[in-house]
Amino acid sequence: MQEPPRIAVVGAGIGGLATAAALARSGLRCDVFDSRDHPGRLAGMGLGIQISPNGVRALREIGATPPPSTVVRPDAVELRRWRDNSLLGRAPLDDAETRYGAPYLTLTRAELSGALLTAIGGAGLHLGRRCVGASVGRGGVRLRFADGGEHLADLVIGADGVHSALRAALGNGGLGPRFSGHVAYRAVVPASELPTHLVSPHRVRVWLGPGRHCVCYPVRGGAQVNVVATAPSPSPEVNPEKLILGYAEWCGSVRALLSAAAGRGRAWPLWSGAPVPRRHRGGLVLLGDAAHPALPWMAQGASQALEDAVALARCLGSPDSRGFPGSSGAPGGGLTPLERYDALRGARAARLAAAIRTATDEHHLPDGLRQRRRDRRLSTPPDRDWLYGYDAAAGVTS
Ligand SMILES: Cc1cc2nc3c(=O)[nH]c(=O)nc-3n(C[C@H](O)[C@H](O)[C@H](O)COP(=O)(O)OP(=O)(O)OC[C@H]3O[C@@H](n4cnc5c(N)ncnc54)[C@H](O)[C@@H]3O)c2cc1C
Repeated sequence: MQEPPRIAVVGAGIGGLATAAALARSGLRCDVFDSRDHPGRLAGMGLGIQISPNGVRALREIGATPPPSTVVRPDAVELRRWRDNSLLGRAPLDDAETRYGAPYLTLTRAELSGALLTAIGGAGLHLGRRCVGASVGRGGVRLRFADGGEHLADLVIGADGVHSALRAALGNGGLGPRFSGHVAYRAVVPASELPTHLVSPHRVRVWLGPGRHCVCYPVRGGAQVNVVATAPSPSPEVNPEKLILGYAEWCGSVRALLSAAAGRGRAWPLWSGAPVPRRHRGGLVLLGDAAHPALPWMAQGASQALEDAVALARCLGSPDSRGFPGSSGAPGGGLTPLERYDALRGARAARLAAAIRTATDEHHLPDGLRQRRRDRRLSTPPDRDWLYGYDAAAGVTS
């Protein structure tokens, strides 16, 4: 009888845990390695995250269910003007289940990770193991760890985030992410400390202004509000108080949010880069931020990592993937499982990267002609069907 393939996943973040869960669904066991020594130690764990319907579909596919009692289903995304809080556009989300096949959710990262951890089944979780590199050879992929240890696997899935240690082993050379020139202050505040119009109804609220934008949305059943305020910065290090001061002339709603958030959070540098041109080499394959580090302007990084995980597990679990990763693909000379994954996910990442480039250009316009044109466009909700209506599992089988 053929031995089951030895699969290792590096990174137990959103993409890595989702991959372990998706592989388990396809009947494949894996070992997951993470540099953290505790699954609850990921920086920013108590902060919020938006999971759009395409991500929720992927969560359903892998059997990960965040706690329904605290997860919020916002009824719309609102875009507002920085100076006077006037409404620029509202995209309804209350029809997401019928329109896109799944709801739009806001929750904490801890709730999401908890649901994924429950779904990984019999996967081996190895914490406190920082991977420092990998060698791709004929006999498999050999991982090297900071503690001097090694691990050999037939297939290694690099889900080790934006500063991936495995990206270099793809041989794409020098394509790592760069500091984007933006930082984000993130905090969670009790809803009871905010004016009611910022808390009810449950909405994602975004204020656009010159060089900056500010986002808030409910988490923990609406008892808390997650706040993200971005700012330009010449360096990745930034003083949070100074960042908040940059909003001094914004409308009262934003000032109320940031005054409640002050002292409760911290600022993070934002990194950006192009998706890797090819996601695999031999038995090494990348997913999530490791493969496509992007600015969070469209709140898609986690949902894309979830889609990646579902697509990769589907490609690997399909009947024509026997003997992967060295498999020659489907009978008749079709793509290998990893080539198939690469083609599918590469096209999706390229489309999203283009949309994020447009958002980068448009989100922070100074007041003037281009801003007024943008504001007029925003009064009609943008087409999100291609993004939110995507079914990562069906994408593999179609
Ligand atoms: C301000 C901000 C707001 C965001 N908001 C949203 C949002 O609302 N919705 C959304 O979809 N996305 C959002 N994102 C993006 C999202 O957080 C990321 O895209 C997502 O976490 C990527 O998942 P990942 O698994 O690829 O990486 P991560 O979640 O970063 O996980 C990487 C894992 O690898 C481990 N690791 C790293 N290096 C090593 C190593 N050398 N060896 C072993 N383990 C290692 C880490 O400990 C970590 O557990 C936001 C990002 C930012 C910065």
